[in-house]
Amino acid sequence: MASDSKHPIADHLKFAAELGVAGVSRDPAWRTRPSEPERPRILTLTPVGNPQSNPQSNPQSAIRNPQWSAAEALIAVRTEIGDCTRCKLHAQGRKQIVFGVGNPEAALMFVGEAPGADEDIQGIPFVGRAGQLLTDIIEKGLQIPRADVYIANVIKCRPPGNRNPEQDEVATCEPFLFQQIDIIKPKVIVALGKFGAQTLLRTLDPISRLRGRIYDYRGAKLIPTFHPAYLLRNPSSKREVWEDMKVVRKLLRQS
Ligand code: URA
Repeated sequence: MASDSKHPIADHLKFAAELGVAGVSRDPAWRTRPSEPERPRILTLTPVGNPQSNPQSNPQSAIRNPQWSAAEALIAVRTEIGDCTRCKLHAQGRKQIVFGVGNPEAALMFVGEAPGADEDIQGIPFVGRAGQLLTDIIEKGLQIPRADVYIANVIKCRPPGNRNPEQDEVATCEPFLFQQIDIIKPKVIVALGKFGAQTLLRTLDPISRLRGRIYDYRGAKLIPTFHPAYLLRNPSSKREVWEDMKVVRKLLRQS
């Protein structure tokens, strides 16, 4: 989904300036997009089970067909989630499950916290105000169409009143995120904010301590950064996010 602005270069420069960029580089490497090498379409995942026989079964035993494309495998995970009642959120006002959106073979994946009100209505992650800022980070900052990346959350249902996800909800839902990651096999994962970073890295360290480093995670490089909702409240932290996005761009160019 490319920006429909009539002035994309001006938008990009303005956005970069907002993020603290003082100039531009003439290094030709800045003009190249990360190349996407051919990736195997055959999945080597866990053995087949029958989700119909027990739709609330442990997601680690999800139905698998090694011939499936990543898109097909994601559909199987979504089918397995079904109209989920595994945790209490199903009875606390969620309208629908917000599974994930984007390219099933994305080199870059973003992991947020949980759907908010807009996401709950539309069934798509990051479509509200924080989502618009994330889209700007992706399209104006990284210069990648949003449709080329994959975006998901740690938990797939909206917590009431946008409260923080609770431990039992994260524990119940995170296996589906792990499956999404294992299917998509991104080169780089950006963990947005405390919940994304702490869940993936299995730590309680604050995001301020986690960011600024590159982590090896499930075959990907993981970059924790501030959540776009935090940036809306603390615009001065956009500078650090821009530093993190420069690392993302460098990692995508490598390999
Ligand atoms: N915040 C998140 O963490 N995820 C969304 O999908 C929207 C807002």
